[in-house]
Amino acid sequence: MIQDGTRTGLADRYGRTATDLRVSLTDRCNLRCTYCMPEEGLDWLAKPELLTDDEVVRLVSVAVTHLGVHEIRFTGGEPLLRRGLVDIVRRTTDLAPRPEVSLTTNGIGLARQAVALKDAGLDRVNVSLDTVDQETFKKMTRRDRLQDVIAGLEAAHDAGLTPVKVNAVLMRGVNDSGAPQLLEFCLERGYELRFIEQMPLDAQHGWDRSTMITADEILGMLTERFHLTPDDASKRGSAPAESFLVDGGPQTVGIIASVTRPFCGDCDRVRLTADGQVRDCLFARTESDLRTALRAGADDAELADRWRRAMLNKLPGHGINDPSFLQPSRPMSAIGG
Ligand code: SAM
Ligand code: SF4
Repeated sequence: MIQDGTRTGLADRYGRTATDLRVSLTDRCNLRCTYCMPEEGLDWLAKPELLTDDEVVRLVSVAVTHLGVHEIRFTGGEPLLRRGLVDIVRRTTDLAPRPEVSLTTNGIGLARQAVALKDAGLDRVNVSLDTVDQETFKKMTRRDRLQDVIAGLEAAHDAGLTPVKVNAVLMRGVNDSGAPQLLEFCLERGYELRFIEQMPLDAQHGWDRSTMITADEILGMLTERFHLTPDDASKRGSAPAESFLVDGGPQTVGIIASVTRPFCGDCDRVRLTADGQVRDCLFARTESDLRTALRAGADDAELADRWRRAMLNKLPGHGINDPSFLQPSRPMSAIGG
């Protein structure tokens, strides 16, 4: 039975309803960003644990047709490593009502796949790029692939996967001094840059509140080179980025202050891991298993019902700034950032 998404959608106990689903397609990655995972990588999920392409599409379809989800973002790990990506995107954009479909990627391999992804219906991409300095890139990602990312960005732009957004994380003494240069690079090419405060989601548990670069510091660094004025706040809605017009606009830069100015009260997100677990928050310490029910033959109504119930555990906030905060056991790359 198809239900009304607002009444029987993914509501939690605090008045929020999730309509934006982040789907992790793999926990594997071809980079090793220092704020995300260790040099040696992680114990990757075994193939039988991963949802198949059909299983991913089935769960996405339940979310869209039964639960009022209208935005799907594929992520990972590195989603471009998933062989069935183009087909998954095509089958997702074929759903009715058609959801907005986007991809968060490190951009490696995007030059090869951008046109096929666009043809499959992909609307937009977010490409992660923390620096445009080759040596710093190598140091931060432990791989010498800056040129591949730049080529991926260009291909996405040319294919019309716009607006191309760039996500950047700053680390003190590593890439922070290059923030204005990164903004210049994005402005020149028409990409929308957003800085994300580093969060305690790295596999090594190396995050330190006292050394992370705050949103206010980022603003300070950028205003040494650019004139920033707050963009119209009414455009923000539940979007996590605070947006600033650069030198009078129309181009903007965003700052996502997840740690210092949390936006949990407006959260409209829910996540599905590559092994079929629903997470109601990046920082959740519990997950709800949909894969077992799916493989046992549950129908759409039962899956939707399990998903709705999973949302009732969602806490009002992430609690990072609380002394009792505990980092979730899965890192960002396994949850789907
Ligand atoms: N591999 C893809 C990529 O890098 O875009 C998708 C997955 S990655 C986990 C998604 C986003 O999470 C990236 O923009 C990355 O910079 C960000 N990220 C990873 N670890 C983070 C952390 N500890 N704090 C803040 N952002 C983080
Ligand atoms: Fe890979 Fe993305 Fe994590 Fe970097 S941030 S290691 S690209 S999953």
